[in-house]
Amino acid sequence: MRDPRTTSLCILGAGGFIGSHLLSRLVRESWRDIRAIDITSDKIRRLLDRDNITFVHLDIYDTPGLAEHIERADIVISLVALCNPSLYTTVPLDVIDINFNRPLEVVRMCAARGKWLIHFSTSEVYGKTIGRYAPEAADDPARFVLSEDTSPMILGPVGAQRWSYAAAKQLLERVIYAYGFEQGLEYTIVRPFNFIGPRMDYIPGIDGSGVPRVLACFMEALMTGKPLKLVDGGRARRCFTYIDDAVDAVVRMLERPDAAKGRIFNVGHPGNEVTIAGLAEKMLSIYRELCPRIAPEAPCMDRVSGESFYGAGYEDSDRRMPDITKARSLLEWEPKTDLDTALRHTMAHYIREYGADCAPREAC
Ligand code: NAD
Ligand code: UDP
Repeated sequence: MRDPRTTSLCILGAGGFIGSHLLSRLVRESWRDIRAIDITSDKIRRLLDRDNITFVHLDIYDTPGLAEHIERADIVISLVALCNPSLYTTVPLDVIDINFNRPLEVVRMCAARGKWLIHFSTSEVYGKTIGRYAPEAADDPARFVLSEDTSPMILGPVGAQRWSYAAAKQLLERVIYAYGFEQGLEYTIVRPFNFIGPRMDYIPGIDGSGVPRVLACFMEALMTGKPLKLVDGGRARRCFTYIDDAVDAVVRMLERPDAAKGRIFNVGHPGNEVTIAGLAEKMLSIYRELCPRIAPEAPCMDRVSGESFYGAGYEDSDRRMPDITKARSLLEWEPKTDLDTALRHTMAHYIREYGADCAPREAC
């Protein structure tokens, strides 16, 4: 059997959070031929002098350029997206375009050329849990544990534009599945559950603007001494998954094509579930350890409504607990990093990167 490390990879969106970690791992393990495509390379700059990586500055809206790079690859890994909840309610047309229309072109190109497509979807396709509609049964695991091939997908009304991203991603999954069914497309769909780690998101006002994902929101608040904002009281729950564990699942897919092709995989750490209020408490306490000179006062937290924080049309996923039986059995994958360790690594990186001086500050 051919050594998977000799296959030619084309990674679209390689310069982003997941792409940068995946590239590091592939480089470390001497994958021979990696074409990294993105419109930005800041997060992968230190890798670009390696012989086995070719960086291509390409906008995937450049159709001939895209076709050329897909043509010469054996495997296409598709990571390009707008995947920040604050955008779903503010620029839904862009969100739908980049998460559905454009990747649809990637799917068609892979189908026409016989390429294996590894497509990154999202755990958000599951939407809200059934438990939310049957609160009396909310503690029954069947009501909130999400399985790739059996759980329903429950999105809110059209006017709740929060679901623009989930709907675009879900429809694309259905198109990929149909290409597999009708035209034999070889595909794997990955549903990430809140990956966290270094280089995840920008800090507003320093290297980006708007509202990043929750971890960067809380880091910004901690580093600038502002209150952490708990949307709708921080009752929603997430299973935060450390990026190294997540990348390990993807590498296992690449190494086991027979197990991975034609399948959808949840990639998440069921043991790391926490409410967002619980996450804020944990981050505050780790921040105090990492930066002991900050004022050891009561937690500074503000409750805000979803609409005031994200704008009209915001709704939330109440709970996202992955069933990872399939990844365990077919990929022999097991997420290993507990939430405290994942947060410690990630927060230490943010503090180093953004030069937080950990100076004493006013208590809230
Ligand atoms: P990211 O935003 O860090 O990376 C996306 C990359 O795509 C960026 O580097 C961006 O520059 C690039 N890109 C955007 N438009 C482009 C264009 N027109 N042409 C070329 N490149 C373009 O996102 P991420 O966190 O690395 O997520 C990667 C994938 O995983 C996405 O599909 C996302 O929906 C999915 N996902 C991630 C998470 C998570 O926890 N990080 C959760 C659910 C789903
Ligand atoms: N959230 C919060 N405060 C913030 C940012 C986000 O309470 O400053 C909440 C948000 O409402 C959601 C959860 O944190 O319930 C996770 O948000 P994230 O942006 O990371 O993405 P999601 O998991 O919703 O895709």
